[in-house]
Amino acid sequence: MSVILAIDIGGTQLRVAVYPTASTTPRVVQKTPTRGQEQGVYDRLVALIDSVFPKDEVVEAISVACPGPTNPFTGVIASTPNIPAWKDFPLAGMLSERYKVPAYLGNDANMAALGEWKYGAGQGHSDVLYLTISTGIGGGVISSGMLVVGTRGLATELGHMVVLPGGPLCGCGLRGHLEAVASGPAIARYVNEQLAVGCSSSLKPGPNLDARTIAEAARQGDKLAIDAYAQAGEFIGQALADFLHAFNPSIVIFGGGVSQAGSLLLDPVRDSMERHVMNPSYLDGLQIATARLGDEAGLLGALAQAHIRLSSTS
Ligand SMILES: [Zn+2]
Repeated sequence: MSVILAIDIGGTQLRVAVYPTASTTPRVVQKTPTRGQEQGVYDRLVALIDSVFPKDEVVEAISVACPGPTNPFTGVIASTPNIPAWKDFPLAGMLSERYKVPAYLGNDANMAALGEWKYGAGQGHSDVLYLTISTGIGGGVISSGMLVVGTRGLATELGHMVVLPGGPLCGCGLRGHLEAVASGPAIARYVNEQLAVGCSSSLKPGPNLDARTIAEAARQGDKLAIDAYAQAGEFIGQALADFLHAFNPSIVIFGGGVSQAGSLLLDPVRDSMERHVMNPSYLDGLQIATARLGDEAGLLGALAQAHIRLSSTS
């Protein structure tokens, strides 16, 4: 029997899963806290891999999902937000050298898109747009059955499109990006700003106010909370219309914790998308779905990446 090792470099945890080659159910998953500010993250990752590396079986490949700009062609992480020491870090090459197997690397949002396409909500489609909305906004695009990565693997940063010129500062340092007006922290910031100018609400201002608490208040009928989600949905729908124009997908899949607000967010998204689309043909047969793989999207996407890369080299 042969296996594939999938690795997810998360903000809080490093995870390694061992998948029998023909399966999407891992035989074992091991994890350790990322503690990315400390030294020795790579050594701890290697120790984690060693602990599950099979001794008597063929390992077909190691495949990694990692946040931040990564180059799938060279296997180099340009930078990754949770581990400052990994700058121009040739992770795939190091793993391939150490374990004597092919090693692949991909951006975590792209890997989640691949996972949802191959094993989740996007199965059967050839043109998939995946948008994850949580503390940031990321995305991935499958176009004509291929993951869109661009020339250096930097595509497709769907959260960093300008939807409000001159608007709030984004985590990337620029202004008015979708992430800056529709991510979880952006929803909370909007509510805090409105509370500060005297808007009445059941919510209490403060740094701990988060999108989940606001969603609960919205379900109790809190108008400010409902408005905050409606505004985020308006911006997401506006950006989504642009994405439809660019990629013409047959399905849009929403992932990430903020999307779990369901119709509170997705009804305004759909309404805004329909108003901003240049031609109703883009909406013909378009499916809107929520992600199915949850926390496993990165690992399963890395698994899908391994299968795709292995079959393209054989
Ligand atoms: Zn940005």
